[in-house]
Amino acid sequence: MERLFIDLEICNSCAECRAACDYFYHPQNNGIASLREYAAFATICRHCEEAPCVNACYHRALERSGDGHIRRYKMRCTSCKCCSVACPFGIIFHDFIPYLDSRCDFCVGLSGKFPKCVSSCPEKAVQIKEVSEDPEKDIYFVGERLAVHSRKWSREDLQPPKKR
Ligand code: SF4
Ligand code: SF4
Repeated sequence: MERLFIDLEICNSCAECRAACDYFYHPQNNGIASLREYAAFATICRHCEEAPCVNACYHRALERSGDGHIRRYKMRCTSCKCCSVACPFGIIFHDFIPYLDSRCDFCVGLSGKFPKCVSSCPEKAVQIKEVSEDPEKDIYFVGERLAVHSRKWSREDLQPPKKR
């Protein structure tokens, strides 16, 4: 199955695809920000045991889900940015948490055409393609329609090698 593929190693947040996502069926939409948010929580978030972002949120909009990933409940989030300030690793960019939120619907139904984010990205950081999950190549699936290329943070990588 084809997936939307985001290469976080290439994406430089240039905003070209954000502008292009705003079209007839997506007025003022910034769908790519929501995908970058999911991708960041799945790959580069440190999954802190005592997560400062969760503790900072007065609105209980952030929770840790069963798979250990942080999730944001958009109907509760007021865009106060406390979580962004609280995260010591700079994972939660301000454009992930706008007051008026956007969604990506993967442009389902755009048969035969590429989504605007794909055709507008000058860096080719967003593509539609058949891809296999492959941790050796830093490719991870996030949900049913998204694949992410990013060096994944891992607690195990920080452990010193075991003595023989
Ligand atoms: S921006 Fe949203 S998720 Fe972050 S602390 Fe504020 S209400 Fe919570
Ligand atoms: S504080 Fe930052 S690194 Fe820690 S769980 Fe929250 S988003 Fe992830």
